[in-house]
Amino acid sequence: MLLSSFFEITARKQAEEALHRQRMRYETLVNSVDGVVWVANATTLEVEFMSKQIETLSGYSRERFLHDPMLWTSLIHPDDHERAAATRVEAVEQGRNGFQQEYRMIAADGRFLWVRDIVTLAQSDDQWIMSGLSINITEAKEAQMAEEEQRRLAEGLRSTTATISSTLNLDEVLDRILEQLQLVIPSDSADIMLIEGRAGRLVRSRGYKGRRDMGGDIIDFLFPIFDMPTFQMMMSTGKPLIVGDVTISADWVEFGRTSWIQSTVGAPIHLEGHTIGFLNLTSDTKYAFNKEQASVLQAFADQVAIALRNAHLYQQVTQYADDLQTQVTQRTSELELERQRISAILDSTGDGIVYTEDATIRYVNQTVSEQTGYSVEELIDQPVLLINKGGLESHSGKTALDHLIQRVRNEGIWRGENEIQRKDGSIFYASLTVSRIGTPDSTPLRAVSTVRDISKEKILQQQQSNLVAYASHELRTPITNLKTRLYLLRRRPEHLEQHLNVLDEVTERMKRLVEDLLDISRLERGVIPLHTRPLSLNLHLQQIVDVQKPEADRKGLSLLYEESAMPIFVQADPERLAQVITNLLTNAINYTPAGGIVRLVVEEDPAASEVAIHVQDTGIGIAPEHIAHIFQPFYRVISHVSGTGLGLSIARQIVELHDGELSVSSTPGEGSTFTIRLALIEPPVNSEDGIFYRDVQA
Ligand code: ADP
Repeated sequence: MLLSSFFEITARKQAEEALHRQRMRYETLVNSVDGVVWVANATTLEVEFMSKQIETLSGYSRERFLHDPMLWTSLIHPDDHERAAATRVEAVEQGRNGFQQEYRMIAADGRFLWVRDIVTLAQSDDQWIMSGLSINITEAKEAQMAEEEQRRLAEGLRSTTATISSTLNLDEVLDRILEQLQLVIPSDSADIMLIEGRAGRLVRSRGYKGRRDMGGDIIDFLFPIFDMPTFQMMMSTGKPLIVGDVTISADWVEFGRTSWIQSTVGAPIHLEGHTIGFLNLTSDTKYAFNKEQASVLQAFADQVAIALRNAHLYQQVTQYADDLQTQVTQRTSELELERQRISAILDSTGDGIVYTEDATIRYVNQTVSEQTGYSVEELIDQPVLLINKGGLESHSGKTALDHLIQRVRNEGIWRGENEIQRKDGSIFYASLTVSRIGTPDSTPLRAVSTVRDISKEKILQQQQSNLVAYASHELRTPITNLKTRLYLLRRRPEHLEQHLNVLDEVTERMKRLVEDLLDISRLERGVIPLHTRPLSLNLHLQQIVDVQKPEADRKGLSLLYEESAMPIFVQADPERLAQVITNLLTNAINYTPAGGIVRLVVEEDPAASEVAIHVQDTGIGIAPEHIAHIFQPFYRVISHVSGTGLGLSIARQIVELHDGELSVSSTPGEGSTFTIRLALIEPPVNSEDGIFYRDVQA
């Protein structure tokens, strides 16, 4: 029994020793692992075992962990705390056999450590037991973070550079730089400040995390930077500056709504050797920025400088372009004004003006369009041959034009008369002056032509030469007559009395003829001045009728006057109007056989605002083939009635000088009606004072 218990004791001792040795070996093994080996309850977190390394890792004694189950979790960084707990609880709930996780831990000396847990889960007696290995991975983690940081920074700078070259809108570039900056160095607000004189102007600013008070609304805010040591320092050193805790910094000057700021970092913006501004970041926590971030910030500040320089260059270029644009606009409007002036002048001239290049029309003024019936547009770029049909000389058309062009090229100018064809095919005669622009050998041959319509002058010329022929003819008859009488007188002086009567008659006729001729020529030359006045027609015409009455009586004719019901006024020369009416009445009396009726009728047409004065007779009338000619000088249908053949021609000219119209309608054998149409005028206000009656009597 004793022996057996001795053996038993010995055996137990031996077993205990073996166990102890084994345990020591395990402990040595566990403690030599580069990590903390531990065993703990997954629910209560009570620590069953923990290797010595925990002391190196955390700085706390192993015993504290063994006694305080909550110590470990309390050391986990607050930001990682929740996640770490959730991973463990989830693994237990799902009955997994293990899990891994990484988190930050705060060591006894305040350092942050990155820890990785590799945990095995096993159930024993309804309890979940964790066996774990915790490794300090701080170095690897920091290297990885640094690498990520580098990558973010490189990416940030790369996209900043891309932004700068992709847009020249400065505000946009600066905003993008701030955006990129926020990704690389998180902050609560960021701003770009540029130096203006003795102040710093916030040109761009952003607030984050609801820091709106540092956001866009304080753009353009001015800071007295020369009184703020932080800015002074950056200016003098040219280097970034960190204020880790503004509350204890003597350099920090609180300004405006910046009381929330706890720490800040700024970097000067250099351009061409000067500090022109600052890139600033702020945070509402102390020591938010480190040295590395400050140098990153400087890199961004350098990008801002590039952006500003680009923008400045761009502004200079755009300013230059704007100036040019303004000058061009100004010059264009001056030229346009000049062009309008010249074209107004050219259009207002009575002569047509044509500019040609190698006989192709490049410009015509309005007058050419009026002369030819073509619109200006229809003539541009057309050959000048379209309208210029060549000379009045023997050759015409193209040959004449070639001849003309040759002369213009060689001699510089050509003057002459050409036929111009209108759009409707009709022709008018034009006096042309074609002047060369430039030298004889310049190509194309450029020339300016003035076109004067001389058709009227041509007709007038024709009329004048006709008139001279008629007048000489008409004068020759009485002169021959005179000579015959003088011859007879010399032969038979005793018949003096009889010859004197004829001589009287003949000289009287010559006098009339000469007077009429004078009238015609004066009227044609426009030298007969009209003395027009407001004239009361009824009374005026009555007086003329009264004068003609005895002649009508003598010929056995009734002369009737039908005046208008209401007084009628016209603007007329009383004497000249009397001359016309007298002429028409005399003709009517002359060409109406005895027993006939001559009527003077005044008819008002208020709608047309005119008056018609009709001289009607029941005489011999005028055949249609003569009607067109009776207003021409010396045209007479019958010669047995005495007359010069000039009366109607003079009458029509006088009426036309009054802006009126003289027309005739006639039926041979029944009679003729000559009608004068004149514009009505308002009765003058002072018609009662007798002025017009006096005029009439004049
Ligand atoms: P004259 O001195 O011959 O009358 P006018 O110029 O007054 O010259 O008239 C031209 C011609 O018109 C006259 O010769 C005549 O043949 C014709 N004539 C003018 N008035 C009348 C009339 N009332 N009736 C018929 N023929 C007329």
